[in-house]
Amino acid sequence: MKHVISHSSFRWCFAALATVVSVGLFAQDRYTVTVLPNDHSVLVQHEWNEVGKAGLVGKKGMKSSLYQFPTTVPGTYATLDYGRFIEDFTAYDANGKQLRHQREGNNTWSIKGSAVRVQYRVLSIMEESVRKNKIFEPASAYFNPEVGAVINGGAVFGFANGQVADSAVVELLHPSNWWTSTSLPRSSYASDRLVEAAAMAPAPSGATFLEERPAPTPTTALTTLSARNYHALIDNPIVVAPADTAGFWVNNTRVTIACIDFRGKKHAAHFKSLLEADLQAVAQFMPVLPVDNYTFLITVADFTDVGQTIQDAQAGNIKPLALLRVLLRMRGQGLGALEHNTSSLYFLGDFGVDLPDLNLDSQLASSAVHEFMHIVTPLGLHAPAIHDFNYANPSMSQHLWLYEGVTEYFSHLIRLQGGRVTVNEFLAEMQGKIRSGERFPFEKMSFAEMSTNVLEKGYKEQYGHVYDRGAVLAWLLDAEIRRLTNDARSLRDVVLDLHAQYGPNRPFDEAGFYDAFAAASHPEMRSFFSQYIEGRQALPYAQMLAPLGVTYRDTVEVWKTVSPLDRRENDLRLEPGVRGGLRTVKKVGKDEWAGLQPGDVVDSGKLIEALGKAAAGEVLTFNVVRAGQPAVLSVPVRKEKSLLFRTLDGYGMNPDLEKDPTALFRWTTFTQGALVRSLSSEPITVPARP
Ligand SMILES: [Zn+2]
Repeated sequence: MKHVISHSSFRWCFAALATVVSVGLFAQDRYTVTVLPNDHSVLVQHEWNEVGKAGLVGKKGMKSSLYQFPTTVPGTYATLDYGRFIEDFTAYDANGKQLRHQREGNNTWSIKGSAVRVQYRVLSIMEESVRKNKIFEPASAYFNPEVGAVINGGAVFGFANGQVADSAVVELLHPSNWWTSTSLPRSSYASDRLVEAAAMAPAPSGATFLEERPAPTPTTALTTLSARNYHALIDNPIVVAPADTAGFWVNNTRVTIACIDFRGKKHAAHFKSLLEADLQAVAQFMPVLPVDNYTFLITVADFTDVGQTIQDAQAGNIKPLALLRVLLRMRGQGLGALEHNTSSLYFLGDFGVDLPDLNLDSQLASSAVHEFMHIVTPLGLHAPAIHDFNYANPSMSQHLWLYEGVTEYFSHLIRLQGGRVTVNEFLAEMQGKIRSGERFPFEKMSFAEMSTNVLEKGYKEQYGHVYDRGAVLAWLLDAEIRRLTNDARSLRDVVLDLHAQYGPNRPFDEAGFYDAFAAASHPEMRSFFSQYIEGRQALPYAQMLAPLGVTYRDTVEVWKTVSPLDRRENDLRLEPGVRGGLRTVKKVGKDEWAGLQPGDVVDSGKLIEALGKAAAGEVLTFNVVRAGQPAVLSVPVRKEKSLLFRTLDGYGMNPDLEKDPTALFRWTTFTQGALVRSLSSEPITVPARP
């Protein structure tokens, strides 16, 4: 799908804008991003003001400039090297003279002379085939003149001479039927005047850089956004596409949903009902939401080929999730989302077939609350490495257990409390996390060591454990806090208290945070960190979960029903179909034991359910369809002993919990007023839609 065209084939009309806009007029950076009509890329022009700033002094005393793209961005915990997707880089000085430049590494251009403007083209990164350090889609970029644009700041906006503090204006030139969705505020900057001027002014001969800015046309619209600094550009992804939007209020927070489906399907109205219910659950957990506005940006990609493969493979009883992991690894696609202060960007796959856990709703539900809760941590509670993010030479914090583990645990707890999942579903989720989290090599590296070194080989492969073992660590922390405080305090109380204490603008001390956490919870909590997060000790699930009424067992012996439809347990093959649905027998061998014949149509869900209820040795009569006619099977019920590993069951602590699981997570000492609206110290207001 990669389309590369030569520079000369760009088609637009040029107009003089210099009469309206001159470099000296604004003491801020300006980025002009043009969605190219015939190409899967965008053209970016970036000009900045070097007045009063000395250019860098390079070799032989010559002035030089550096232009850079991020090595990584907050929240990804991975090397991204956005500079790899930049083409046609050109630099200019204040007189419009083109400057010589040299590329250094993946992300840096070294420019001879004092540059004040550069121009480059950014490729549609999601459509590039990349093996090493592939960029996670929610942090990536997508440009398609037929569909829309997904703009992540790191991919599209570079920075000059290490300057990330200056404010910036972003001008987006895009088809007039596209709508811009972002939490970045619309600029008060004179965009209307710009449009008028462009329409009136004739194109001059000998056009310089400013005149080369493509002008709006009847089919092109200009959207102007402003950012208070470079961090805000990185923190606010932008989707520009034909409108597929919806909105609602949760308490005092205005929520906007904007979707872009790569095949043009509409989703926003449907996602609205799902997100509204999820955010109501968040509002129960944290009644004062610390943001005024929040934007869900949702991209939906076509995965119908993968869905078909999964459905075919189910005929052979391969577990769909395991198969999916293999397929996605082959495709190098990362379904998921990335959090920001007042928005989150999702990359969902439309599998086309109805597969539980893989439909769009489940994908969104499993990530939306998680991403939203990142408002608390790391965005409102973090180490200096995250606060003063170094885009060129990032350093990582040891507290991924907090940023991702606690967030992931909270997202499931919130959905449990809000009635979005049952107690059993919650326990099944945590059981799965215990099982997969046990694959973390805790004897070789502590969780904190993995976190600090997560960009390095040998550690980055373990990053995924922040979502399983990390969430389990948070659950155990919660259990320990409740035990030590006689259920007077919970993890939520402690985290929200710390959030109120530090907030987005005051980082905590990286090394001293365990002490601060113990001070905010219970002195004995310090040893939890020494043993299980800084240390390499095995997690004592049974002991720590018992006070919650949850029973953990390493191994359990159970009687398992032998399935006559499983080819590992009966001598037969089925036609492709959905597990639990109507299944057709393809062929049977001589050892078939349930009386099935080729062509028989069986309601597999009902059969397995009936066998589960029957006792071993009984003969179950069951109706099937044979050659279009009803037929009765006599199935001998077989059971065999089987071992289950790492299981959870319980909630025996309090019989009321079965009826009302929220009793376990009741409000304790946290006062609603304590969570000041600290994130809104610099309010962002998105104007109402015209
Ligand atoms: Zn996360």
